[in-house]
Amino acid sequence: MIPTTFEYARATSLDDALAKLKAAGGAGKFIAGGHSLVPLMKLRLSEPQVLIDISRIPDLAGIHERDGKITIGAATVHHDVATSALLEARCPAVSEAAATIGDPQVRNRGTLGGSVAHADPSADMPAALLALDAEIHLKGPKGWRVVKATDFFQDLFTVDMKADEIIVSVQFAPVRTAAYAKLHQRASHYAIVGVAASLEVSAGTIVSARIGLTGATSHACRLTNVERALAGQPLSNTTIEGAAQVAGQELGEVNSDIHAGAEYRRAMVGVFTRRALTAAMARA
Ligand SMILES: Cc1cc2nc3c(=O)[nH]c(=O)nc-3n(C[C@H](O)[C@H](O)[C@H](O)COP(=O)(O)OP(=O)(O)OC[C@H]3O[C@@H](n4cnc5c(N)ncnc54)[C@H](O)[C@@H]3O)c2cc1C
Repeated sequence: MIPTTFEYARATSLDDALAKLKAAGGAGKFIAGGHSLVPLMKLRLSEPQVLIDISRIPDLAGIHERDGKITIGAATVHHDVATSALLEARCPAVSEAAATIGDPQVRNRGTLGGSVAHADPSADMPAALLALDAEIHLKGPKGWRVVKATDFFQDLFTVDMKADEIIVSVQFAPVRTAAYAKLHQRASHYAIVGVAASLEVSAGTIVSARIGLTGATSHACRLTNVERALAGQPLSNTTIEGAAQVAGQELGEVNSDIHAGAEYRRAMVGVFTRRALTAAMARA
């Protein structure tokens, strides 16, 4: 339960963070809220020799809307996402998802960037970002890179981020007709199953839908069968019921652990898809 010794350095800017990471020569790691990294270090599953604190880099935290896109800085803590008036007005599903994370201590320290980089299979924000077709903005020694959330989450704790890159922000077009529904593990509040649903609706018809799932598989993913079943259909309880019936069918291996078996999780994918869609419909 005691980590190996490490040096601590506080970065003052993005470029300073990248320079410090380079200077650590492969033995450095960024630390933001520390709520995922420190437990790993205590178990010695991660043994960085240099911790580079990015939590106080000016402008790395904050939420704003410009040119029809909302940007959330990587160092923004979950509490600020959960209580943002802008998100509540323009894209409530995001603050809804952040509000379900852990407890007040976790939400006051844990960051969006840390959650996205760590990519725990039960983390909430990846599902919301998938449903919003968000982009992850990264910076590295070779410059900027933008990766769609759909391509970013690749496998268990595996994302499309190079060892010398930093996540700077996530960006998405706000959607009001979106919602997040989650069955949480009672102690940690991590998702056993979490579903984010986002609908584009015109004159009572679902033009398109995006569904993000977390908790059920090795990494957060889209439920494309459900999305196809919804597109072009009238926005109604009957449509939602039909779509929820196919939820989970496309999934290959489903997670099984002490909290929930695979069969139960697969069943809950349908239940929470229905709940997320019903809540999104109520915002239409
Ligand atoms: C008791 C408990 C309950 C929790 N419950 C939930 C829950 O219900 N739902 C949920 O989703 N999460 C939950 N979490 C996780 C929590 O949300 C974490 O805060 C989050 O996953 C990681 O954010 P962090 O800022 O703490 O990252 P850190 O622990 O500081 O870092 C995690 C990893 O991300 C890297 N990293 C951090 N920021 C960046 C960046 N900007 N660019 C590149 N790499 C970066 C670090 O190097 C490290 O590898 C829980 C955690 C605890 C301890």
